[in-house]
Amino acid sequence: MNILVVGLQKDGRLLPASFELLEAAKGLGGNVHTVVMAENAEEPAKELASRGGGKVMAVSDAKLKYFNDEIYAKVIRGIMDKVSAEVVLGPATFYGKALFARLAALAGAPMISDATKLEKDGDNVVATRPHYGGSVVSSLVKNGEGPFMITLRPKVYPESKDGDGEVVSESADSSALEAKMSVAEVKSESGGAVSLTEADVIVSAGRGLKGADNLGMVKELAEALGGAFGASRAIVDAGWTEYANQVGQTGKTVNPKLYFAVGISGAIQHLVGMRTSQTIVAINKDKDAPIFNIANYGIVGDAFEILPALTKKFKAELGG
Ligand SMILES: Cc1cc2nc3c(=O)[nH]c(=O)nc-3n(C[C@H](O)[C@H](O)[C@H](O)COP(=O)(O)OP(=O)(O)OC[C@H]3O[C@@H](n4cnc5c(N)ncnc54)[C@H](O)[C@@H]3O)c2cc1C
Repeated sequence: MNILVVGLQKDGRLLPASFELLEAAKGLGGNVHTVVMAENAEEPAKELASRGGGKVMAVSDAKLKYFNDEIYAKVIRGIMDKVSAEVVLGPATFYGKALFARLAALAGAPMISDATKLEKDGDNVVATRPHYGGSVVSSLVKNGEGPFMITLRPKVYPESKDGDGEVVSESADSSALEAKMSVAEVKSESGGAVSLTEADVIVSAGRGLKGADNLGMVKELAEALGGAFGASRAIVDAGWTEYANQVGQTGKTVNPKLYFAVGISGAIQHLVGMRTSQTIVAINKDKDAPIFNIANYGIVGDAFEILPALTKKFKAELGG
C-alpha cells in the first residue's frame, strides 16, 4: 500500500500534526511517502525524513511560502500520481480540511474528514470518525479503485520520533503554481503563543467571566500552565475575543490532555469541539450546569475567586 503523508509547515516550521500523521502511516504498514511544500522545503523535509517520513518529496518555490489551497492541491495531485498514492493523509486542521476537500474534488476521490483511528483490513484502510460530538462513531472504507483521502484529528496519535527516510527534491509544474488568488501577507493570530489545536493544555472562558476586561485572569492561568487560551462562541460573538480562539461546532475542534472550561455552561455546540479532551475541569457557579455532565473534575464556585487561587498555586508548583 502506497501512503502519501502531507506535511504542512508554517513559517518553515512543520506542524506537530505532521509527525502524528507519520505515526499513523507507519501503523498501516505500507510504503510511506511524504510531501512538504515551502519556499525552501529542504530543512522541513530533512526533519520528516529523520522521523520516519520514508521518501520525502521537498517541493520548494516562493509561491509555496504561504498556505494556498488551490496551489497546494495541484502540487500534491501531481505527487500523488508520481508515487501511485492509494491513501493520502493530512491533518484535520482548518488548513488541512480546506486543502483535502479541494484535493479530493481534484482527484475525484472519496474523503473522510477528522478520523480518530486508522486500521488496515486486508488491502483496505478502515477509518473511524466521530459524529454528533462523539455520540455516534462510524467506520468507513473505500469502495473501488483510486486513492482514499483522509484527514486525521490532531493529538490522537503520538508523534513519530524516529525512522528511516530520504529527501528527494521535486519541482512543481508551472501550471500547478498558478492560482486565481494569492496570499500577499499573513499576520499571526493574536490568540497567544501556543496554538489552540496543538496545545496540551487549554483554558477556555465563557460568558461567566462577565466582560472582556476579565479575560486576563483566564489567560494568566493558561500561561502558567504553558497552555493556550480558548473561548466559547458567546464571548466571541460579544466581541470580547477573536474568532481564532473559539472552540466548538463553528470554531476549532481541540483534543488537549487538559481542558479547563471556566464560566462555560456546556451547550452541545461547545462540547462537540472539546469533549474528546483527556481530562476536563469545569469551573461554574451553577452546580446544575450541563458542563459538569462531561467534566472529570468539577469545581462549583465563583470563577473570580477560583481562577486567581489556581493560578497562584500552579505558579508556585511549576515555578512560573
Ligand atoms: C449553529 C450554532 C453554532 C454554535 N457554535 C458554537 C461554537 O462553536 N462554540 C460555542 O461555544 N458555542 C457555539 N454556539 C453557541 C452555544 O449554543 C452557546 O450559546 C454558547 O456555547 C454559550 O456560551 P457560554 O457557555 O459562554 O455562555 P452561557 O451559556 O451564558 O453560560 C455562562 C455560564 O457561566 C456560568 N457563570 C456565570 N457567572 C459565573 C461565575 N462568576 N463563575 C463561574 N461561572 C459563572 C453560568 O452558570 C453559565 O453556566 C453555537 C450555537 C449555534 C446555534
